Amino acid sequence: MKMQKLTIVIPAYNEEEILASSVAKLLAIENQIAEQGNVTQSDILIVDDGSADRTWEIVEKLNHGNSRVRGLRFSRNFGHQNALIAGLHEAVQTADMIVTIDADLQDNPEKIPEMVAKSVSGADIVYGVRNDRTSDSWFKRTTANAFYKTLKLLGVELVPNHADFRLMSRRAVQTFLDYPERNIFIRGIVPKLGFKTDAVYYKRTPRTAGESKYPLKKMLAFAWDGITSLTVAPIRLILILGVLACLLAMGMVVYAVVLKVLGLALHGWSSLMVSLWFIGGVQMVSLGVIGEYIGKIMTEVKDRPRYTIQTVLE
Ligand code: UDP
Ligand code: MG
Repeated sequence: MKMQKLTIVIPAYNEEEILASSVAKLLAIENQIAEQGNVTQSDILIVDDGSADRTWEIVEKLNHGNSRVRGLRFSRNFGHQNALIAGLHEAVQTADMIVTIDADLQDNPEKIPEMVAKSVSGADIVYGVRNDRTSDSWFKRTTANAFYKTLKLLGVELVPNHADFRLMSRRAVQTFLDYPERNIFIRGIVPKLGFKTDAVYYKRTPRTAGESKYPLKKMLAFAWDGITSLTVAPIRLILILGVLACLLAMGMVVYAVVLKVLGLALHGWSSLMVSLWFIGGVQMVSLGVIGEYIGKIMTEVKDRPRYTIQTVLE
């Protein structure tokens, strides 16, 4: 069998309560995968996202005790998505397949062997998908659902109930890293990469130690980032609203003239109403047109690859 290396990337922000036990568990799972013969080498890469607690100390200690545990430390908190990107960037130097998973292991790590098996049988991307959200509060479930529905309506392709628990092959990660944009919502980019994809299904468990690093405020900011970085559809909405307002203005003209002719309108009312609607509509259309160009600038600035070639036959 040819050499196959697996790296598990863990973003960690103030995870002192749980990191050591999570790493121990992941090492055991990696050993199990090696025994099954699906990889010849494996390690773990922890990205400390500027933790203020003992997280980095723990990383150093783990690395000291086992060279299969590696670490990267940010100079300050740069956020979950950036920690993941840094981890992918580093891991892809040596790994053939990379799994990303949260430090709290709420996303069932027992599913990693299945991900690796699916990767060995040809999938470049294997999504971890939650098929049971009963461990979430009613509020989180409903808002998450509304979020997926809204994005879909705006034309963004997302894998529902999939967060950042996934396996990617080296070439999938390399392609992903060709998307140089700064405002990035990783799970919205991965489906754009192409390649063969597959999924494993699991139930997410509650955190066993520490607390969520995603309070509501951060979650809302993250969701808003997702929408505004993945689609310019809200801009087009302005244009559509403007056109509708102009159409309404025309209706208003007819209505005002009829009332005037029938002598039912107060003096000055007709001209006021007509110009109000008309000017409003024209302004909104103008904003929408400007917005269209800003949207184009945004997509240009993102500098995404135009295409990804999977195979060349010579
Ligand atoms: N995380 C991070 N930087 C941050 C916030 C979170 O690296 O600024 C990491 C965190 O350590 C964890 C993962 O992102 O490994 C997901 O966070 P958490 O489990 O708190 O989110 P939740 O599961 O509550 O949505
Ligand atoms: Mg969590």
